[in-house]
Amino acid sequence: MDTPSPRPAPIEPVPTPTSQRFWDALGEGRVELQQCDDCSSWIYYPRSRCSNCLSANLTWRPIAGTGTLSTFTVARQPTTPAFADVDELILGVVELDEGPKMTTSLEYVASADVVIGMRLAPVFVAVGEHTVLRHRPA
Ligand SMILES: [Zn+2]
Repeated sequence: MDTPSPRPAPIEPVPTPTSQRFWDALGEGRVELQQCDDCSSWIYYPRSRCSNCLSANLTWRPIAGTGTLSTFTVARQPTTPAFADVDELILGVVELDEGPKMTTSLEYVASADVVIGMRLAPVFVAVGEHTVLRHRPA
């Protein structure tokens, strides 16, 4: 388990029957996504049907969780008192190697060193009884 940059505790995830496997995998240090058995599309966020062909034949598969930074922003102005001691949060969108894009926070990097297109690797961060996914430079 990695140690993330200091920040207020985020709201703990609330798994649903559809997303439970995603959260369980993160808790075990893996990233798993659903893949459609009919059209091979990778799916994120977890759903009961394929976002491409609407098939219900989806299989969970482990992936590396690596990808490329598509875009990012740096939040420096605290929006609530809980963030008063946080210098900056780097919020981004990672395009996973399998194709889906997910929002993420970047860890272990200064905002001045962040470049669109940089390779990213997963960071698993414990939050209460769950684990959330962030990213760091690969
Ligand atoms: Zn499909």
